[in-house]
Amino acid sequence: CGIVGYIGKRDVAPLLLEGLQRLEYRGYDSAGVVVTGPKTAGLKMIKAKGRVRDLEARIPKRFAGTTGIAHTRWATHGAPSDENAHPHLDAEGKVAVVHNGIIDNAGDLRAKLTAEGVEFQSETDTEVLTHLIARSSAAELEDRVREALRLVEGTYGIAVLHADFADRIVVARNGSPVVLGIGEKEMFVASDVAALVTHTRQIVTLDDGEMATLKADDFRTYTTEGTRTTASPTTVEWEA
Ligand code: GLU
Repeated sequence: CGIVGYIGKRDVAPLLLEGLQRLEYRGYDSAGVVVTGPKTAGLKMIKAKGRVRDLEARIPKRFAGTTGIAHTRWATHGAPSDENAHPHLDAEGKVAVVHNGIIDNAGDLRAKLTAEGVEFQSETDTEVLTHLIARSSAAELEDRVREALRLVEGTYGIAVLHADFADRIVVARNGSPVVLGIGEKEMFVASDVAALVTHTRQIVTLDDGEMATLKADDFRTYTTEGTRTTASPTTVEWEA
């Protein structure tokens, strides 16, 4: 339902929670965050059924990170529960995915992955994406995500965080909105500009079939086939 992400120098958890609160008006049944950073070992995740303020109450005092993605879920596959809340992690806890939309062939993909020995932690369609990305052996995270997306049918706006590529967030869009917010040595991503406008008015809206890599001081956009696309930020007008 709602996606928020940030990469920069600031403490990320409060920024993500504030972004999620701005998306609450869309409705949701659960929420979650995952964070990392140059000084953070691995990924730290908290997710829970219920309100954003319930999630906030579960976040420990020390939850440092400068990169993170977050989600408010409106369940389509699997009941609202802590386990089915996003983000979804792979078995090693290295890949985290948040997803808006519906993966139509999730049942087939889940059966194939299960036959290969993958153990699923949730009932969601989304979790197949996590495992598909995790099993790719491509050198770059972008290529791993691209390989996974080639196998899925359906709609998605996704944001991906990987412990071994903590300098970036990779996002993709097909039928579910993704907007980038361009800051000064910091970048934002969201499913809705409402989550970004308090931080930046410089917005890049992804097209269907487009992906992006966000780094703290840089972003680039390209198609799911890997061809670079030109994306110049536009300034959004917004009544606060
Ligand atoms: N289909 C996914 C799920 O049920 C995502 C739902 C959403 O867009 O929030 O978990």
